[in-house]
Amino acid sequence: MRNLADKTVGVLAVQGDFEQHIRQIKLVGANAREVKLPKDLAGLDALILPGGESTTMTLLIDRFNLREPLANFIRSKPVYGTCAGMILLSKRVLENQAKVQTFGAIDIDVVRNGYGRQLFSSVEEIQISLNGSLSSMAALFIRAPKVVRTGKEVRILAELDKHAVLVSEGKCLASNFHSELEGDTRLLEFFLSNFLPQTDDN
Ligand code: GLN
Repeated sequence: MRNLADKTVGVLAVQGDFEQHIRQIKLVGANAREVKLPKDLAGLDALILPGGESTTMTLLIDRFNLREPLANFIRSKPVYGTCAGMILLSKRVLENQAKVQTFGAIDIDVVRNGYGRQLFSSVEEIQISLNGSLSSMAALFIRAPKVVRTGKEVRILAELDKHAVLVSEGKCLASNFHSELEGDTRLLEFFLSNFLPQTDDN
């Protein structure tokens, strides 16, 4: 794992389980910052959009004037979304759309709460392809969105029951499960070592 002492990772902190992400960022040796206002994005190396309620997050993003600054950040820097964060990064919400507004950064369509009772809240053992090798991971699903379409530029890094659960496109990574609630920091480390630029010139 590279030395992250000079990196600052923000977590959108308007709603949801941002504190768990903050804890994991510190665990891997990077600096963590809660993002509640546009000015909090200044100088961040990467951003995490946490799990929570994408409806409430949509509302608060607009209330705090974060939509445009977040859209700009997502276009230019690495962003990792978990669960509701994945919904916000997706292209479209096909069902249970409510008033959720997405950033369209990853070419996937999702159905909110798409597993219904089947995976209302459960831990599933999944196989993840990290840096070319398969590792198994206990993934916690909480009213997870179901990925029902993946565009051809999207890399599928893990699936469950033939649906993608971990995807990436460009500078963005997204999981429909929570990777931050336990002590397992492998996904965060994967994100930071593969998505942060190798040099410091951007
Ligand atoms: N069902 C939530 C939503 O639609 C996501 C759940 C989660 O983030 N754990 O936003």
